[in-house]
Amino acid sequence: MQFRSTNSPLPETSFGDAALRCLPPGGGLYVPSQTPDMRQFFLYMDEKTTYPELVATVTPGLLQGVLNPLSASRVAGSAFDFEPELIRLDDDYSILNLYNGPSGVFKDFGVVFFGAVLEELLKDTGQAMVVTAVRGDTGVSLTNAFRNRRGITSVLIYPSGHIYGLDEAEFVTNGGNTIPIQVRGGFDECMRLISELINDRPFAERYHVTSANAINPCRVLPQAFYYLYAFIKIKKNLEGKDLVFSVPSGNFGNFVSGLYAWKFGMPVNGFIAAMNSNDAFGEFIRGGKFKPHPVVETNSPALDISRPVNYERLVSFFEEAPAVMRNMVFPSSINDEKTLQTMEWVWKNFSVLLDPHGAVAFAAAREFNGDGSRDSHCVILATGHPAKEADIVGKATGQIVELPEKLRNFRKQVSPIALIDPHLEALESAIASCF
Ligand SMILES: *Cc1c(COP(=O)(O)O)cnc(C)c1O
Repeated sequence: MQFRSTNSPLPETSFGDAALRCLPPGGGLYVPSQTPDMRQFFLYMDEKTTYPELVATVTPGLLQGVLNPLSASRVAGSAFDFEPELIRLDDDYSILNLYNGPSGVFKDFGVVFFGAVLEELLKDTGQAMVVTAVRGDTGVSLTNAFRNRRGITSVLIYPSGHIYGLDEAEFVTNGGNTIPIQVRGGFDECMRLISELINDRPFAERYHVTSANAINPCRVLPQAFYYLYAFIKIKKNLEGKDLVFSVPSGNFGNFVSGLYAWKFGMPVNGFIAAMNSNDAFGEFIRGGKFKPHPVVETNSPALDISRPVNYERLVSFFEEAPAVMRNMVFPSSINDEKTLQTMEWVWKNFSVLLDPHGAVAFAAAREFNGDGSRDSHCVILATGHPAKEADIVGKATGQIVELPEKLRNFRKQVSPIALIDPHLEALESAIASCF
């Protein structure tokens, strides 16, 4: 599979170069320039197929020249010691549980695959410095994904606030491969610094800089695999109904990954873009112009986004096939009150606890299905572990949710290696001083 920039129709680069460079030289984001039809690889699979088996089977075809059947099964085996879980609730709804990874968030699926593939790309003694803007638990997720991976140094860029859950033994200064740096500024400034760093070519080439933020196609692509997984688990039980996925969407990385799964040949009828009150992107989906709104705070904070990081990728889908996209993508906006009511409803009806992000997606699916005349089966993506939002979950359902053992040490606060102003020179000297 070749990649091109969203700013240019010309195929431009291999998967490996796109993953290692992260951003195209002429601006925009990398997208696949043609998407291979993968049906022959996954249509025969069934509910007995494990997640690493699925990944090992589809990736050699997708990433020709990077993975062969042997290395693909090594990569899949070393990346995934957790699986998605599809829970069928009734004829209308299933939940795709994506929070069983090391940080309790679906992003683990993209991040661990990124780490494993990167090590494979670097196997001939290459080096990479992965510079990633992180908040909360994503830093832990990355540290886990890059632990003991040869050739990789991971620079974590935190906005102002507390840093939790890192193990100081894994810092570069203590012999590990992690460099946490904090910026006096917000998340957007951290993301801006990363673009500037990648575009400072002398520095980026000297240190082999790339990023594991969703701007990197190698972060987004592997998220397509759990859609395929849900499909092979559910296909026999659809009983003629349409298949629709409901995706809680903030930066739309998860959502775009679903569209890639469809491009790879997954039979599907639609995707619900489930947003909270930060729903400016809905206007674009309905055919209007995209005007970012100021962010309002909600109880599903990962969806409190003004301009999605994956904006260019979404636009390129709509430019390619506007009519198809408008028949396939359904925007929805769910407020906090509805989110809480839905958590309660799902608990009462199915004895399942959802975190607020999953509840936004479930509420959107219920609105989509309406009185049932659509005849759709909705798969709701449960993206976060309910115990991580125990207060809200408790308020809505009356249930006390225990944090699993592995998520507990996330609460420990740590200090960064450097605290810098939001300037490129400050970031570069903080990095250079570690070597
Ligand atoms: C990041 C995140 C989302 C949003 O995913 P995007 O790819 O940014 O749309 C949803 N739920 C949870 C729990 C998250 O951490």
